[in-house]
Amino acid sequence: MSISDFVYSAHAARVVFGAGSLQYLEREVLNLNAERVLILCSPEQRAAGEELASRLGSRAIAVFAHAAMHVPIELVSEAQELARAQRADCVITFGGGSAIGLGKAMAQKSDLPILAIPTTYAGSEMTPIYGITEGGVKRTGTDKRVLPKTVIYDPELTLTLPTQLSLTSGINAIAHAAEALYAREANPVISLLAEEGIAALARALPKVTAQPDNIAARSDALYGAWLCGIALGSVGMALHHKLCHTLGGSFDLPHAATHTIVLPHALAYNASAAPEAMKRIARAIRHDNAATGLYDLARVNGAPVALKDIGMKDGDLDRAARLACASPYWNPCEIEYAEVRALLQAAFDGTPPRRN
Ligand code: NAD
Repeated sequence: MSISDFVYSAHAARVVFGAGSLQYLEREVLNLNAERVLILCSPEQRAAGEELASRLGSRAIAVFAHAAMHVPIELVSEAQELARAQRADCVITFGGGSAIGLGKAMAQKSDLPILAIPTTYAGSEMTPIYGITEGGVKRTGTDKRVLPKTVIYDPELTLTLPTQLSLTSGINAIAHAAEALYAREANPVISLLAEEGIAALARALPKVTAQPDNIAARSDALYGAWLCGIALGSVGMALHHKLCHTLGGSFDLPHAATHTIVLPHALAYNASAAPEAMKRIARAIRHDNAATGLYDLARVNGAPVALKDIGMKDGDLDRAARLACASPYWNPCEIEYAEVRALLQAAFDGTPPRRN
């Protein structure tokens, strides 16, 4: 491979990684000079959020356990009001992309520093991308102010992540790195991280599925998710992310499962336009074909492989293809309606991806 011109911008965050690293929570809060911390999590993780608050004693001013997918503006306003009334000087997000998304929406308006404690593999904690949903429409933007100052990655916190969500969330992370390898802004540093991230997840996920309490495999998976999150936060996205944003935003399909199903087909679509990226993905997952290998990773380990099994309606495929083609992201090859429609049909039916 020869190196051509590139631009590389690093997003600095302090990362504390390791099984049991939640023990450093108070040290990390002090390191941010924070004295009045608001903890954000989703309703399902309220007990864990309250446990965090008890670790912090009087430094924790409240637990706001209402985070939800797509960051509804009403929740942002409610959490902002609580932060203002309680004079919060830091936000801790505990959970996946939904909790982190709420913290980002608050930081974008208030400059409150975020300490993120991710418990899924979605990777949002490493990106400057935020989203807010108002009146049924999700608006996204990029702003460095929303990047967490500190991230604590403790694999022990992922032990409770349900097995199937662990697998689909891990493949969601792989999707970030896969598209980073053929992004318009791709650069050699991010490509290294992306390939390493895919490799770590591909070797960890079958073990996590077979033995959800295997802490070594959980550590590998979270390490991979971190690297894939950096890739997503550093370079652009392409057809795969456009399709998933369309399917999630307009048809309310579950985030991680949608990524898992669409990825092999999006890679098959782009394969001939991005042969070097495909080689690196195939090498990372130890398979002779990137698209087929990722399809098998999902299928063999019990993840859904068909959009029809996660709530998509046959009659909505035309509209989904039209929406995805109407305002496409940059992609290594042309976006053509008929081909995108065929891609969605294959993803809907769950047939193996086209081999190139
Ligand atoms: P999520 O945060 O919605 O979590 C899914 C469910 O799993 C929730 O009920 C949560 O409480 C539960 N959960 C999370 N961790 C758990 C654990 N360890 N044990 C038990 N339960 C656990 O799901 P997600 O896939 O992490 O995030 C999806 C959202 O994040 C989407 O809205 C997506 O758009 C966004 N996202 C944003 C970015 C970005 O860069 N802005 C990147 C990736 C995802």
